[in-house]
Amino acid sequence: MPRVPSEAFRAPKGVHDVLPPESGTWAELVARFADRAARSGYGLIISPVFEHIEVFQRVGEHTDVVSKEMYELTDKGGRILALRPEGTASVVRAYVQHRPTAPWKVWYVAPNFRYERAQKGRYRQHWQLGVEALGVDDPALDVEVIALLDGFYRDLGLTGVTLALNSMGDAESRPGYVAALRDHLLRHAAALGTEFRERVDANPLRVLDTKVPEWQEVVEHAPQLTEHLSDASRVHFEQVQEGLQALGIAYELAPRLVRGFDYYTRTTFEFQTDALDAAQNALGGGGRFDGLAEAMGGPPTPGIGFGAGIERLVLALEAGGSAAPSLRRLDAFVINGLGEVGSTKATLLVSDLREEGLGADRAYGGRSVNAQWKVADRSGARFGVMLGRDEAARDAVAVKDLESGDQVEVPEKELGTWLSDRRAGRSDATR
Ligand code: AMP
Repeated sequence: MPRVPSEAFRAPKGVHDVLPPESGTWAELVARFADRAARSGYGLIISPVFEHIEVFQRVGEHTDVVSKEMYELTDKGGRILALRPEGTASVVRAYVQHRPTAPWKVWYVAPNFRYERAQKGRYRQHWQLGVEALGVDDPALDVEVIALLDGFYRDLGLTGVTLALNSMGDAESRPGYVAALRDHLLRHAAALGTEFRERVDANPLRVLDTKVPEWQEVVEHAPQLTEHLSDASRVHFEQVQEGLQALGIAYELAPRLVRGFDYYTRTTFEFQTDALDAAQNALGGGGRFDGLAEAMGGPPTPGIGFGAGIERLVLALEAGGSAAPSLRRLDAFVINGLGEVGSTKATLLVSDLREEGLGADRAYGGRSVNAQWKVADRSGARFGVMLGRDEAARDAVAVKDLESGDQVEVPEKELGTWLSDRRAGRSDATR
């Protein structure tokens, strides 16, 4: 076989493995999100990782995500495909294809691919948790969607998070606003150079949330979206705000929040954290995309949703010092002190405990008792359960709290109940 450079067997730049124990946090975050989404009537959607490229071109030919960062490929049949750069387009494509009854409420957990400049909090493959709700333009649904993400973050004990809220207007009010914005920006174009000019020509909205320092002054004095809303959009926006206030969800109006895609209409929102650098401070966000289904050949269908990055959430949890939630730990690690004959006994014991709904593991390979205790300590289990000769004579096992070191003897047939009581907090550690 030809020699392959060693980098070939490392993950490519900008992507990463998620390994235990951090992956335990991921599993817990996904489980909590799934539970919260289900409790609000959202069903899971699993859509393909790649689509025909047109699906994503519909969400924003003038956006960096689509025009510069998309992973495009041609398959062996000559089809031009793209790896999903964001979640909404695939969901709307599925809606248009299957025409489910509205309202259609779905949630997802999925990887997205963007050829970005890799740095902390910005990767070439990142994961998002998200929801999309199609078929209803009631502002109560905007409130539900925002409240879902707010509740998810709040439940995690995240601090330093603010909710930025804006309305981008509708098909009726947008053209008038875009024209006013373009006029304002073009008045300064000569002084600000070609890139500015090109951006304004392509889509003046894209300039509004720019982070380029030299452009800030002009952008700050630009006309604001919310001053140009049609009556219907203004009322909708007021009702969204009233709903959030009724639920006690604090928000800040952010007139320049346009977000990274072309499809947004009316409500847009973003949860921002002070735990990460300004360029990566968006934890999760979304908004309405009332024209997108139609742009994909479907019936006119309003919709709203959000995407919330998992990597940034994990970073924010770490930075905020909140204990990242982790998947349930093992209750017991079984130590075989009976030699070869004890191995089957250990197998039966961990199997019984697992069937009882407890977390249990053991060492393999006939290792010494001392070596097994070391594995037990590393396993993160709460208790070490020792099968010893003296205890076996009394049909019992020795149970050691691996944090405090306290030890007690427990009758073997009561072990499951004894551990379950500790798991449920019905009894103190080894008492
Ligand atoms: P967007 O689809 O751009 O609105 O992003 C939604 C969320 O996904 C963001 O708020 C981030 O949490 C996350 N996100 C977007 N791009 C990246 C990336 N390149 N790396 C990590 N997380 C990302």
